[in-house]
Amino acid sequence: MKVLFLGSGTSVGVPVIGCKCGVCRSTDPRNKRLRSAVLVTTDSTTLLIDFGPDLRAQALRYGVSAVDAVLCTHEHLDHIAGFDDLRAFCWERSGRLPIHAGDQCTARLATMYPWAFAPGGYRGYVRADGIRHSGAPFQVGDVAVQPVPVEHGSVETYGYVLRAGSARFGYVPDVKQMPASSLELLRGLDALAMDGLCFPQHPTHLSIDENIALMRELAPARGIVTHTGHRVDYHQLAAYLPRFMQPAYDGLQLTL
Ligand SMILES: [Zn+2]
Ligand SMILES: [Zn+2]
Ligand SMILES: [Zn+2]
Repeated sequence: MKVLFLGSGTSVGVPVIGCKCGVCRSTDPRNKRLRSAVLVTTDSTTLLIDFGPDLRAQALRYGVSAVDAVLCTHEHLDHIAGFDDLRAFCWERSGRLPIHAGDQCTARLATMYPWAFAPGGYRGYVRADGIRHSGAPFQVGDVAVQPVPVEHGSVETYGYVLRAGSARFGYVPDVKQMPASSLELLRGLDALAMDGLCFPQHPTHLSIDENIALMRELAPARGIVTHTGHRVDYHQLAAYLPRFMQPAYDGLQLTL
């Protein structure tokens, strides 16, 4: 299983429009973060998790031209605003593009983009199959997917654990807390990428220190901090994290 980080930034991206802070003015590519999304590929299956407003730029930058299915974590716009660019993944396929999401997010997508879910659909536009997983595990090709319910403000939000063969990857880009049953699903993975917005406490996201504490408890072989804001310098964060952890950056690829 390969995991490619298409974006590692929080909702406004990094640099932030109009900001003059050191990270936003940095010329280091690792301090430039598109909105968070990952592409997971196996020998036979390609999965996209989240489709934020940078989807077009991400697909062009990393040569993503086809996906078998899309997973969505939640309805915040930094995770779904690139919906219309999913059209490129519909042109070459015979059936509709499966979009797996929680109940609330599936309903939101159908409200925002009704034409994409209408019977028939329009040639050239997104033709999607909205699939509510309701938190139950499902299979896409050779990838077993386990939704992981988490708390992130008032919006129904999921992380995912993806398993192909013996490789297990967890992805939880937006989270503040989670129930014990979700913690169990995330324990001892080969790699776990989790929300680390900033150093100060935040009402709906894990801080860097909260992320580290949770990573120590969940003990993945590799812990990755993602969905990071502009107050966090890549190299300072890399030096701050324990040995088994690293910051995500756009273009980071894991082979599990
Ligand atoms: Zn987000
Ligand atoms: Zn800034
Ligand atoms: Zn969010």
